[in-house]
Amino acid sequence: MLDKIKSLSHQYAAEFIEIRRHLHAHPELSYQEFETSKFIQQKLTEFAIPFEIKATTGVVGLIKGKNPAKRIIALRGDMDALPILEENEVSYKSQNPGVMHACGHDVHTTCLLGAAKILNELKHEWEGTIKLIFQPGEEKNPGGASLLINEGVLENPSPASIFGLHVHPGLAVGKMSFRPGKVMASADELYITVKGKGGHAAAPHLCVDPILIASHLIIALQQIMSRNNNPLNPSVLSITAFNAGSTTNVIPNDVKLKGTFRAMDEEWRFKAHGLIRNVTENLVKSMGGEVDLLIDVGYPSLYNNEQLSELAKEKAIAYVGADNVEETEKRMGAEDFGYYSQKIPGCFYRLGVMNTAKGITSGVHTPTFNIDEAAIEIGMGMMAWLGASIE
Ligand SMILES: [Zn+2]
Ligand SMILES: [Zn+2]
Repeated sequence: MLDKIKSLSHQYAAEFIEIRRHLHAHPELSYQEFETSKFIQQKLTEFAIPFEIKATTGVVGLIKGKNPAKRIIALRGDMDALPILEENEVSYKSQNPGVMHACGHDVHTTCLLGAAKILNELKHEWEGTIKLIFQPGEEKNPGGASLLINEGVLENPSPASIFGLHVHPGLAVGKMSFRPGKVMASADELYITVKGKGGHAAAPHLCVDPILIASHLIIALQQIMSRNNNPLNPSVLSITAFNAGSTTNVIPNDVKLKGTFRAMDEEWRFKAHGLIRNVTENLVKSMGGEVDLLIDVGYPSLYNNEQLSELAKEKAIAYVGADNVEETEKRMGAEDFGYYSQKIPGCFYRLGVMNTAKGITSGVHTPTFNIDEAAIEIGMGMMAWLGASIE
């Protein structure tokens, strides 16, 4: 089976590099992946794989092997692009100015399509059912994963486990990486308006200065992180916007703050929300102000099922050799794959796309992000191999 998958992915590599280039040239923003969705539907129709539409642009396909009820495995690829103006001068540069596949979701969609073609071709040789999840809206709250789950993507049939890959611009092409347990953070957004009473800057005693209150608040919020969280538990709070005032001699009426709060432990995450609320309300009040606080709860942390990740890692070693399988570093970035892995055992792994010799080293979410396209053959083959062989 492994040799057949390898040889098919080798045979189809050029075709799928073209597919990736097509997707790269036609990026669409989160929840607006209409043409991308149509393209995926066309390809699945061409491969004779049945599918249904969920969450407007999501496409969910099913491939039945021998004994379809024996094991049901889900494979997920996200489809959306980012509001970034591409700076790469390549023949397949974004034709949608200001929108770019800068997170590699074109690659993820391509690898999933490639795996689908291979698995479908070999369906008389493996047992079970593969659910293909082409997911919209990974880059934007509430996350396409949560919409698809609400629309029943993990039912009828219910997969026993789910796999997803992400390109890794810090990992050399040819390599993959895995990590069991906690691997990425939750991400909640903070929106705070501190309301005081504006007036002449030379008469602060007649005002309630929201700038001073907000300054104290930022320090108090950082002290929650340093004094209430276990130092061994990764968590970070960053205030990223402080907007107030416009001149030298006027104390403004209010200050608007924005920020992000991230955690790897769900219990600490929600405990911290309570502390943030408590400190914000009481500190602002104690200084004579009033406050509006919104904690916009985003993606959960991403937890890789230990057993499944070990198994997947063994499969990767069989595919690319032990020298090419590394351990993924923990990150405080977020991924809506976390929604799936809260519901069923999941494994989110990394595909190396870096090539320093070719100068392909830019990070994701930058205007010069790109991949070494040799990664596509490995990415689609590995996904097919997981689909066909994971118990
Ligand atoms: Zn991204
Ligand atoms: Zn991404």
